Amino acid sequence: MSEIYFDNGATTKPTEQVVRIMTQVLTEDYGNPSSLHRKGQAAERYVIEARKTIADCLHVPETTIYFTSGATESSNTALLGAAARAGKRRRILAWPGEHPATGESLKRLAEEGFEVTYLPVDAHGKAVVEALEEAVDPDVVLVTCMHVNNETGVIQPIDQIGRIVHKAAPKAMFHVDAVQSFGKIPIDPVAWEIDLMSTSAHKIHGPKGIGFLYIARNQYIPSLLRGGGQEKNFRSGTENVPGICGFGQAVREAYEEMNGHAAHMQHLKELLYREVTQGIDGVTVNGPEIGESAPHILNLRIEGVRSEVLLHALEDHEIYVSSGSACASNKPEEKSPALSALGLTATAIDESLRISFCRYNTEEEVYTFVRTLQQFVPMLRRFRRK
Ligand code: PLP
Repeated sequence: MSEIYFDNGATTKPTEQVVRIMTQVLTEDYGNPSSLHRKGQAAERYVIEARKTIADCLHVPETTIYFTSGATESSNTALLGAAARAGKRRRILAWPGEHPATGESLKRLAEEGFEVTYLPVDAHGKAVVEALEEAVDPDVVLVTCMHVNNETGVIQPIDQIGRIVHKAAPKAMFHVDAVQSFGKIPIDPVAWEIDLMSTSAHKIHGPKGIGFLYIARNQYIPSLLRGGGQEKNFRSGTENVPGICGFGQAVREAYEEMNGHAAHMQHLKELLYREVTQGIDGVTVNGPEIGESAPHILNLRIEGVRSEVLLHALEDHEIYVSSGSACASNKPEEKSPALSALGLTATAIDESLRISFCRYNTEEEVYTFVRTLQQFVPMLRRFRRK
């Protein structure tokens, strides 16, 4: 039996084209872009091309794209950099349920004396924009929001948030974690007034360890790294050329047919939900209605079954999914920031499973997955009730 990989929110398999171009760079075009000779120039061309591909897809100038080691670095740099320009302003606005890349940076800024306010979300985890309108004032330094939540797939109204923020606080910077949305659903950084945006290649069939930070044309944040002055002095260190060109290729492929890929994943999500709720009782969705969330993420609670146990049972059948409780912590908000923001109990979080699709998943995989669940769930429920 071949594997069924439904954990694409965690990472994705690089495409053949991505592997091919990266292999070419690793084996043939391995020069350092800073070298003056032909091999260096060849390497530099890969970087220029990848940056252009990304900038064109987002309709932004190439000069706004800075390659980093991934979204964790991008978000840390963005948040700490915005805070470094705070002057006398002390307020930061955010919403609960952020990925730790942002959440831990916010904790650090709170320790440094910033006043971090977490604004309310509705019953589906969506930001309540009226609360933002009330909270934002010229003392705000930074507002940060995830576009698509990695656990529930809730899509935040980024198009509204940027405008609301800048109207009341023109100097505030608006940062978006677009890791789960970039290459999957449309993003318009200029129209949506995004100042800083973090992305990662490995969520869209690119390599791990590469991402970019978008910094809007009229914005500036200080660099965290000192060194050789690469990336216009913003991100010193020899460029990860294989990663950058792999990322560029992944973006090209993701944008080629973005709507088609989204429709395919949405179809699989709806099919899985229908089959699973028809075949098994006590299954509910965590987060938005099926048609409202990002096309690739489905978070289900299967009552009476610990998702971590189910995850390992499925793994024996080469089926890979994710549970919110993979981390060692016993605190619900650390196990699953987004689910605890929805008010789920620790038991409900323990029983929650994230299924996340990519464009290469198939209907057949969905049917096999549901059949396998139907085998395991009654058995695991019996164990739990003992
Ligand atoms: N933000 C979100 C929403 C994510 O899903 C992830 C990855 O899990 C990250 C940030 C961190 O990305 P990276 O692995 O590139 O550091």
